Amino acid sequence: MTEKKQTPPPNQNKGTQSRKRQRRPFKREAKTREEILEAWKPLTQLGKKVKDGTITDIDEIFLTGEKIYEPEITELLLPDLETDLLLIGQAKGKFGGGQRRIFQQTQKKSSEGNKPRFSTCAVVGNKNGYVGLSFGKSKETVPARDKSTRKAKLNLIKVRRGCGSWECTCGQPHSIPFAIEGKCGSAKIKLMPAPKGKGLCVEKECAKILKMAGINDVWSKTKGQTNTKKNLIKALMAALSKLSEIKLQPDHYKKLGICEGKLQSDEKNEDKEFLESIAAPVEVTENKQENGTDQNKKA
Ligand SMILES: [Zn+2]
Repeated sequence: MTEKKQTPPPNQNKGTQSRKRQRRPFKREAKTREEILEAWKPLTQLGKKVKDGTITDIDEIFLTGEKIYEPEITELLLPDLETDLLLIGQAKGKFGGGQRRIFQQTQKKSSEGNKPRFSTCAVVGNKNGYVGLSFGKSKETVPARDKSTRKAKLNLIKVRRGCGSWECTCGQPHSIPFAIEGKCGSAKIKLMPAPKGKGLCVEKECAKILKMAGINDVWSKTKGQTNTKKNLIKALMAALSKLSEIKLQPDHYKKLGICEGKLQSDEKNEDKEFLESIAAPVEVTENKQENGTDQNKKA
């Protein structure tokens, strides 16, 4: 703790320093497993099971469909969880507004004066199939930020990944298996599978969310008032949760390399073997035929 405090350079521009100071305590929050277990007194049935060790995998919770009411549950079950804040607000100022900020500030006029209120949007994820997103509102900045991160850990969703790009067909879950659309207000977003190495061709805040989910390549199209970041973010989350709602045929899982939730180490090895088996044949033209025959045999 003390080491991290010493690291920030003392002299910087005042403007940037104040902004950085708001964000800095955030990274220090990471606790070890033992610290969480010691401090945590579970209140819900689910929490007690997690602390006992009867539930060791987050997929068990998703299968039963129980709601998570305690952030420690996700902290324990997903140890490599990362947190980030999205820039939903804007600095006040001349010349047509200012920089994007993590706090969206709104005001109510009253007889005593202006009453400001702050809201933030936090995203959590393990970069391997799980993301959560939530908003937090308060009269001050710090509680708003804490609320949003706490709530994001409760709003966790499982993301279906795959490779649906016609240019790629590698069978690894680096993109999404098929195109999908989401909407909130007038903001609409369409995500499309992209080949490996393409990167995230999306708006910046949306890219942060997709990165947290473990999606690396995607193309996108947006429509409507996309400057309303809150709505755009919600539209993206709607699209991501829609991915898991679409019904699939059994052979789609191998064709599109679909993976729900986390990618296991065994699966990674299987993918490698599968890739090697494809890469082995000599000529490219024969390759396709052999693939076809292989699938026929298996079917
Ligand atoms: Zn691919």
